[in-house]
Amino acid sequence: MININKIYEVTIKQYDEYFQGIAFVGKDKVIVPQALKNENCKVKIVKKIQQGYIGEIIKIKQMNKQRGKVNCAIYKKCGGCHLLHVKDEEQMTLKSEKIISLLQRSKVNHLQLKDIWQANKMQHYRNKVIIGFQKNHGKIEAGLYEEFSHRIVPYTSCLMHDETSDAIVKEICQWMNVARIAPYDPYTRRGFLRNVLIRKAEATNEMMVVFVTNTLTFPARKQLIQQLLKKFPQITSMIQNVNTRKTSIVLGDKEQIMYGKGYIEDVLCGYTFRLSSKSFYQIHHDQTEVLYQKAISLLQFSGSETLLDAYCGIGTIGVYASAFAHKVIGVELNKDAIKDAKENAKINKINHIDFVCDDATNYMMQLAKQKKNIDIVVLDPPRSGTTKECIQALAKLKPKQILYISCDPTTQIRDLEIFKQYRYEAKDMYISDQFPNSFHVESVVVLTPVR
Ligand code: SAH
Repeated sequence: MININKIYEVTIKQYDEYFQGIAFVGKDKVIVPQALKNENCKVKIVKKIQQGYIGEIIKIKQMNKQRGKVNCAIYKKCGGCHLLHVKDEEQMTLKSEKIISLLQRSKVNHLQLKDIWQANKMQHYRNKVIIGFQKNHGKIEAGLYEEFSHRIVPYTSCLMHDETSDAIVKEICQWMNVARIAPYDPYTRRGFLRNVLIRKAEATNEMMVVFVTNTLTFPARKQLIQQLLKKFPQITSMIQNVNTRKTSIVLGDKEQIMYGKGYIEDVLCGYTFRLSSKSFYQIHHDQTEVLYQKAISLLQFSGSETLLDAYCGIGTIGVYASAFAHKVIGVELNKDAIKDAKENAKINKINHIDFVCDDATNYMMQLAKQKKNIDIVVLDPPRSGTTKECIQALAKLKPKQILYISCDPTTQIRDLEIFKQYRYEAKDMYISDQFPNSFHVESVVVLTPVR
């Protein structure tokens, strides 16, 4: 029996899915966050959980050579950087090993991990940040959300954020202190400012600040706009988003522009993209260019193809792929994203692309019913993956190639097993490091029909 608060000496044997170390005391499993394989550590047992116990490192007696320096004060509290203590190259090894192990345990175990597209920029890559606020001894504190919870971890700077975003947050805190703006309290549902969302267009330097508020009336609004513009002329849009719901979802439905155009424009792979507050946009600009270029280059084009970009967001992949195809159709559920996508086709003067606002599965089923000719499909679904019905419809449409880009290899592999039943298979898998220092991996395959 393990005792809570007691210290044990353990050796890390393996990792869990979040790259936390796993050790054993007798038959009991101890999960040790931030511990590397083969490390010998003194750990204090802090909690009992369903799978075993959580152990906190007190001292590392024998260190893994792949351990790197951590330069972050809130690393252990915020939990967003699962791999900050691991050297860059080793992060790639760990992510690859995870994918290989997932593949080996699956029904698509013939798939090979072919290549890793490593990011050059490992820090300060996040072009979007979401901040919460709280009061501590009468002073406003800005904070990040602790991983898998709604708890705010006070912060002043984050190694993953764009640095100007953190400076803007600091200025907002000053405005709150001076103008006596109350942060929203989810328990009492009182207070004004719920969240601030900041987006930066890496290539143009344009920034957007979204204030998520609990009421429509906006106290000291003019002061705030003036104060921010004076220090940060790169802010080209400020938006008030009203969210009065009892929910942890950040954005509400109602929005009004406080300053500027209401959107920002970025450049990706040579194309200009406008994005509004609610549209999805990839977090790591430079690595997204790598992902799109490398992924699209896996496809064979003759120039006469019709390409369907499913889960297209603001149309980034479709617009980029339009240079190689005869016709492109993009489908996406989010109304705002489709509005942006249509505008993006215009901005880039692309006439052979159409965007449809619909559920991807629904749309795929319609296309299959109409026996439409689709040669290439790009699937880039959210973490939940695609659906069995979508795959069924795809099998009826019989595209020659399906490029499946995924931000969760677990659901992708689940979907690849279904594709296999419909005689679509891939040979190789590629991973792209869209989220350095986190456990997240982007994986890419091209499926073709098996004859
Ligand atoms: N390909 C885009 C977006 C990928 S993120 C890019 O690279 O930027 C996944 C997208 O799927 C999001 O824009 C989300 O709004 C959209 N989405 C989620 N569920 C959907 C559904 N059922 N049908 C269509 N689109 C959906």
